[in-house]
Amino acid sequence: MQVTTLGEALYPSPLRYFVSDSLRLAERIIQRPDEKMTDNIAFELAGPREKLFFDAKTTRAGIVTCGGLSPGLNDVIRSLFLELHHAYGVSQVYGFQGGYRGLDPHLGKEPLLLTPELVDDVHKKGGTFLGTSRGPVDTAVAVQNLIDKQINILFVVGGDGTQRGGYELYKEAKRQNYPLAVVGVPKTIDNDIPFVSQTFGYLTAIEEAAKALDRAHVEARCVNNGISLVKLMGRNAGFIAAGATLASQEVNFILVPEVPFKLEGPNGFLAALKKRILDRGHALVVVAEGAGQELLQNNTQLKDASGNILLNDIGQYLSTRIKTFFEDEDIPVHLRYMDPSYLIRSTRANAVDSVLCDLFARNAVHAAMAGKTGLIIGKLHDKYIHVPSELLASRKRVMETDGMLWQGVLASTGQPASFY
Ligand code: ATP
Ligand code: MG
Repeated sequence: MQVTTLGEALYPSPLRYFVSDSLRLAERIIQRPDEKMTDNIAFELAGPREKLFFDAKTTRAGIVTCGGLSPGLNDVIRSLFLELHHAYGVSQVYGFQGGYRGLDPHLGKEPLLLTPELVDDVHKKGGTFLGTSRGPVDTAVAVQNLIDKQINILFVVGGDGTQRGGYELYKEAKRQNYPLAVVGVPKTIDNDIPFVSQTFGYLTAIEEAAKALDRAHVEARCVNNGISLVKLMGRNAGFIAAGATLASQEVNFILVPEVPFKLEGPNGFLAALKKRILDRGHALVVVAEGAGQELLQNNTQLKDASGNILLNDIGQYLSTRIKTFFEDEDIPVHLRYMDPSYLIRSTRANAVDSVLCDLFARNAVHAAMAGKTGLIIGKLHDKYIHVPSELLASRKRVMETDGMLWQGVLASTGQPASFY
């Protein structure tokens, strides 16, 4: 699997160690999960190349962050800039502000010219100092703006939507015959991007989420029949809920999008919760935001500005159902529903995530300077790789229910494998 390059790389690199373009990481991927069709793919390894397509002296780069917050965004921006500036000698690096809107001069603010002083300690804070947004940008207008500003390289830092947007910008630049390197740095706190075994922000998220779970557990335990219900992030995949559950070790029930469940009936979730309350007098329940969507009425399929389906609030729904269930059973309970999501994702990256951010960012710069385009940086089996952006479009990574993580979660909660 070769990624697109803008042309022959002729400029010698100022760096000292190099990765050959011919090195590959072999991966067997499942084409369609339902049919278990597999295909072998060999990904290009990321890393500095000996010859560069861009002449650092005349090169201008841009960075944009889009979508929701994830710990580590500022680390990524900073490392992109520092690698471009110090290692390659690119002196003009612009930070486009407010997400993809910032690429349209009529919609956004003027981009910031980044300097070492400006990025100095941005990694000490959460969020993104460039700002972010959801919603589309006219790709023709955006590319024309990049041409006008003589930007040769664009780093798009964001989740699946952002990377799809990056792919559109890449295609538009190609259509306009403009040699633009579009390189994606994958961001999703949910850890659900394919070909990236671990995205930055995930470990920070489970660390923070586990603290919330520990506190919710204390709340439940200190009252008679206390039930703490905590909603965590995870639209399509329950990685955060599962990771935090394992980290905290206090969770009694966990509900995730990958495992549909029933509320009623002798094997349903409510019966299991009742048994737990009668036996132990307290319970901690975790629900991922994308879990149990099939149970909710009024699924109106509203969408956000970026076109993502707005999920119905499973946390509120469960909270109501648990409350009425115990009222009907005449068992007094103290139910507390908590949603710490925004408090988690706005925190700064922990040390492990900061390392990940730095390596993702520097590999993105190496790819761009070599003239590679229409790709994101991936990571599989501890190797950083080049993944063509179009490969991402049709896939989402979810937790394997026969895998180590979910099986570990079942072992630590003691809950049945299924509420059916
Ligand atoms: P997260 O979901 O983790 O918060 P994300 O990158 O998926 O991150 P979105 O809000 O879905 O967040 O998308 C970010 C940006 O990408 C938005 O500006 C959105 O309009 C744009 N975008 C999403 N899908 C596409 C697409 N198919 N083509 C072009 N642009 C897109
Ligand atoms: Mg998304």
